[in-house]
Amino acid sequence: MAIIGIDLGTTNSSCGIWVDDGVKLIPNRLGDLLTPSVVGLDDKNNLSVGRIAKERLISHSDKTVAVFKRLMGTEHKVTLGNKQFTATELSAIVLRSLKEDAENFLGEPVTEAVISVPAYFNDNQRHATKTAGELAGLKVERLINEPTAAAIAYGLHEKQEGTFLILDMGGGTFDVSILEFFEGVMEVHASAGDNFLGGEDFVEAMMNDALNQLKIQKSSLTPQETNQLLMQMETAKRRIGTKEQQTLDLHLGKNHHEFIVTDEWFSKIATPLLLRAKRPIERALNDANMSPQAIDDVVLVGGATRMGIFRSTVGRMFGRLPSCHLDPDCAITMGAAIQAGLKSKDKALSDIVLTDVCPYTLGTDVVNENTNEGGYFLPIIERNSVVPISVTRRLVTAHDNQKQMRIGIYQGENRLVSKNIFLGNLTVDVPPAPAGKEAVDVRYSYDMNGLLEVDVKVESTGKTLNKVIEQSPGSLSPEEKEKSRQR
Ligand code: ADP
Ligand code: MG
Repeated sequence: MAIIGIDLGTTNSSCGIWVDDGVKLIPNRLGDLLTPSVVGLDDKNNLSVGRIAKERLISHSDKTVAVFKRLMGTEHKVTLGNKQFTATELSAIVLRSLKEDAENFLGEPVTEAVISVPAYFNDNQRHATKTAGELAGLKVERLINEPTAAAIAYGLHEKQEGTFLILDMGGGTFDVSILEFFEGVMEVHASAGDNFLGGEDFVEAMMNDALNQLKIQKSSLTPQETNQLLMQMETAKRRIGTKEQQTLDLHLGKNHHEFIVTDEWFSKIATPLLLRAKRPIERALNDANMSPQAIDDVVLVGGATRMGIFRSTVGRMFGRLPSCHLDPDCAITMGAAIQAGLKSKDKALSDIVLTDVCPYTLGTDVVNENTNEGGYFLPIIERNSVVPISVTRRLVTAHDNQKQMRIGIYQGENRLVSKNIFLGNLTVDVPPAPAGKEAVDVRYSYDMNGLLEVDVKVESTGKTLNKVIEQSPGSLSPEEKEKSRQR
C-alpha cells in the first residue's frame, strides 16, 4: 500500500511517489503530469475531472467549475447542473481522480497521502483539505505547506544546502517562505503570503482593462463570452515577452473587436499586482531578520513565476537571477512525495528532520485593564513560532461576581480582535468572586498539520473544556482574510 504526495492546486493538481532514492511523478490517465483542478458534468450527467472538464469550461460553463480552492473552508455551494457542491466535495472529486490514476500507474492500492496547502491556509481551510482527502478515500497522513514542500524538493533533491527564499505564485495564491537547509535539517524561518494573488489575477486585470477600453460592461457578457475572453487573455499572457505585438479578435455580444496586446500594456496591467507581491516578500525577510543578500538561493515555483516580468521584478529586488532549475509546476509535488517517503520511513530519508512554523498569530480577546474596554487581542502563539507548539496563558475575570468567561479564539496580527479572523469561542462557568480572583488557563496547541486545538481549565473548579477549531461560519470573506494579514 502506497503513500503518495499530492499538490492540490487552485489551477492544476499533480501527484508523485518516493521510490528507492528519488521522486517519481505520476502521469494521469491521459498521460499528463498536471491534472487541471476542474470538475464538470458531461452530457450524461456523469462527473468529469481535469483536462476533459476544462475543455468544456466555455461550451458548458453552467456544468463546469474551476478555481474552487479559493472557496475551501467556506460553506459556499457551487451549482453544477442541478446539483450543489462545496469546495471540499469538488476537491475530493479531484483527489479521487488522482488516487485512481496513481493506483493504475503503480498497480497497487493507494490509501494514504500527504497533501500540500498554501502556508497561509487557515485552520478552516486545512480541515477542509483533510476532509476532502478523506472523502476521496485517502487517509491524509500530513498536510505540508507548499513552500516547505518546494524547499524540500530543492534542498533534498538537488542536494543543496543554505538559505532559500521560496516564491510560489500559482493560479490563485502567492506564498513566500524563508527556509534553511543544513546538515539534513530543514528549518522554516518565516512565511508570509497573499491568498488572493495569483496568475489568474493578471488575466482578470487584462480582461477588465480591455473591456474598459472597449467601453463594454462586464455584466453585459454571457458566462461563455467571459470565459472565452479569459482564455484569449491567458494565451496572450503566456506570449508576453516575445516582443511581438498580438492582435486579439474578441467576439463580444454581436460584435467583433480587435484588441492589441503589447508588452508595454501588459507591464502596466501587471505593475500593481507585482507591487502587491513585493509586500509578503519584504515581510518574510523582515520576520526572518534577513537582508536580501543573506539569501543563498531565490527559488521560483508555480506557473505564474514563468512571467518574465515577475522574474525581472524579483531579480531587481535581490540583485541576481532566481533559480528555477526544477520544473516550477512539479517542485511542490516532489516535496510532498518526499514527505510521503519520510512517512513511509524510507531509509534514504531517515536522517532528515523537518521543522515548520505557524504562519500567523493565534490569540484571544481580553479587556484592557486601564480603560476596562474589551476587544483587545492577546497573542498566545506568535507568528513564525516553530511547530508543534503548545502555549498556556492564564486569564482572570474582569468583573466582580462574573459568572462566565468567554474565550474568543482569533487569528491575525492586529491589536484589536475585530480586525482579526474569528475562529470560535469557548465559554466556561466560574464561581462568583471579586474581579481578578477567578482564573482560567487557556492552552493553544498548534500541530504539524497547522491545526489548532484550544483547552480551557478553570483553576478553582478544575473544570476543563476543549475545542478543535473546525469552522468559523460566515467569517471568511476575502476582505477579512486580507485584513488579518495586515499588521
Ligand atoms: P496552482 O498552484 O494554483 O494550481 P500553477 O502553479 O499550476 O497553479 O500555476 C497556474 C498559473 O500559472 C496560471 O495562472 C497560469 O496562467 C500561469 N502560467 C502557467 N504557465 C505560464 C506561462 N508560461 N506564462 C505565464 N503564466 C503562466
Ligand atoms: Mg501551486
